[in-house]
Amino acid sequence: MKKVGVLSLQGDFAAHGRALERAGAEPVYVREREQLAQVDGLILPGGESSTMLTLMRYEGLFEPIADFGRTRPMFGTCAGAILMAKSVTHPEQESFGVMDIAIERNAYGRQIDSRVVKLDPAEEFQARTAPGKLEAVFIRAPIVRGVEAGAKVLAEYDGDPVLVEQGRHLIATFHPELTSDSRVHQLFLEKL
Ligand code: GLN
Repeated sequence: MKKVGVLSLQGDFAAHGRALERAGAEPVYVREREQLAQVDGLILPGGESSTMLTLMRYEGLFEPIADFGRTRPMFGTCAGAILMAKSVTHPEQESFGVMDIAIERNAYGRQIDSRVVKLDPAEEFQARTAPGKLEAVFIRAPIVRGVEAGAKVLAEYDGDPVLVEQGRHLIATFHPELTSDSRVHQLFLEKL
């Protein structure tokens, strides 16, 4: 069974663990750098990206995760997507920069900052997983404001990219770990 790390310092790491089990993989809740050697890929969960940055620095995990991402697959949801983007605004923030995307934090504003919608994912996503609409939970989500040539958009909401892959890496600005549809996790497991 594939072993997948879930960064477990803060945020909804437990939901990712359950989603991985539903998709047929074994989660490893990563809190120490040594655990990175045991896993084939790493999930950066939703939560608060600035807090995760502080905790990664404190635990000495920032550089080891940056190194991990240079050779192995990473999947970031919401705050995790922010951590993987090349450029972060609102406010500017440090990141691993493994995805050639620009992202704006908390971009949906305060009034309607969380919602559940049905997406029509790209044909390619459906062909590689299974056909059908994709339920997407947005919670104080960022918006992807720019996608460079190396990155591929697999789903959009309201004209903005919400599921993007680049080679071995994947990001979602929504929370696939909070629904029973395993297709996004399955897509990531295929990269391992
Ligand atoms: N608003 C959070 C951030 O900026 C992300 C929210 C989430 O992960 N649900 O990091």
